[in-house]
Amino acid sequence: MKRDRNVKIVATLGPASDDYEMIRALHEAGADVFRLNMSHGDHAEIAVRHGIIRQIEADLGQPIAILADLQGPKLRVGVFDNDDGYDLEVGGSFRMDLDDTPGDATRVQLPHTEIFAALEPGAHLLINDGKIRVKVLECGADFANCEVLAGGRISNRKGVNVPDVVLPLAALSEKDRKDLEFVCELGVDWLALSFVQRKEDVEEARALAKGRAAVLSKIEKPSAVTNFDEILEASDGIMVARGDLGVELPVQNVPPIQKRLVRKCRNAAKPVIVATQMLESMIESPMPTRAEVSDVAAAIYEGADAVMLSAESAAGDFPIEAVTTMNNVAIEVESDPTYREVIEASRGGKKETVADAIVSAAREIAETTNIRVICCFSESGSTAALTARERPSVPILALTSRQAIARRMCLTWGCHCVKVGAVGRFKEAVINAVKAATSEGLAEKTDLIVVTAGVPFGQTGSTNILRIAPCDERLIYASELE
Ligand code: PGA
Ligand code: MN
Repeated sequence: MKRDRNVKIVATLGPASDDYEMIRALHEAGADVFRLNMSHGDHAEIAVRHGIIRQIEADLGQPIAILADLQGPKLRVGVFDNDDGYDLEVGGSFRMDLDDTPGDATRVQLPHTEIFAALEPGAHLLINDGKIRVKVLECGADFANCEVLAGGRISNRKGVNVPDVVLPLAALSEKDRKDLEFVCELGVDWLALSFVQRKEDVEEARALAKGRAAVLSKIEKPSAVTNFDEILEASDGIMVARGDLGVELPVQNVPPIQKRLVRKCRNAAKPVIVATQMLESMIESPMPTRAEVSDVAAAIYEGADAVMLSAESAAGDFPIEAVTTMNNVAIEVESDPTYREVIEASRGGKKETVADAIVSAAREIAETTNIRVICCFSESGSTAALTARERPSVPILALTSRQAIARRMCLTWGCHCVKVGAVGRFKEAVINAVKAATSEGLAEKTDLIVVTAGVPFGQTGSTNILRIAPCDERLIYASELE
């Protein structure tokens, strides 16, 4: 399915989107990547959703990426003696401890010894996405007595953030390790790691994934912002996870961080997702707010590879409308001349290799002449990613003989991914490119295309050849070129 935009759409699946018809409708409306959130849903449900996506992929004959989002060391309170929970009033006191007796209006369990070990009087704890804020007055190895600074409702298993304290938490909990193994065996394309704090966290997950999935780091801790360069280097992709980031840091810090991170990811030719609350009001309303539309647009103007829906598609009343809204915003933004100006002005990144030079030449040639598409043969996906860094004004046809790479590249800006048979000679590659470009509706017989590849084939990172080819196969067969 040819999209009329370059930015990608990630849609989270959940109870509102768990059958074949709905997931297929979301894909047809514009979702390129589906996110399976391991914080919700058991393995059986995850396996069913995974199977449905692969079925849709087979029925439509085109790759779809699956991203499994590991919960990470998310801290949560225990349970209360009723399901509604309690209202905490400003100025009141509230105790957290290790006792698993159901909580009430005065106390609750916080089943994490490592928090109590690291806490000091004066530290702040944020509960329920930061809606409730308490300050530690006194604490010990198994308790913290707190004063309520911002009140609100607390109920079963609400999340807790401790922004002031660097917790010696393992990046992957026991649950994460089990989930990781489960989804890798199931066959997912991306693993998202929550609450990454340092590059070692990424390396640990990569060692466990053993090449079965690419590794994407969610930036949602102040320490991840501080250590961003080394985390980016160690990761295959990034998510600006604004939900927790805006709890751990003052909310007004999020937009400049988002801009900086998106730019760094583009320069590094690694995909970046802007996530959370993009169309939050569409959980309950078929119409987004103007501010939400502007937020989606801003991420696209900044050059993000992908924008993401969370509860809007997973648990809301209008999943299809939410995807359609993102799709429409993307088409409008990308056809704005100002968008091209901004994208051109922010082109950057190191240029030192033959591949760097070839992708920028491919863009120049395509944009100077009337070439309709840049076709790149890319075994590992790296040349397609470098081509995407150029943000050309014509589509990128990413051709690879590896199914896993075709799927993975669905997250990358502008890449229309097609799996092709392995090729041995460049002429064969050109013919495959022509066939794919015309059958996918990206070019017509009278058009010219640019083809880039690395010969000999099958060696990654060897891009060294560029050809302008006619889309008429007879002309290629007639040509002298090998
Ligand atoms: P989450 O991550 O939805 O898993 O919390 C995204 C975010 O924090 O923004
Ligand atoms: Mn988060």
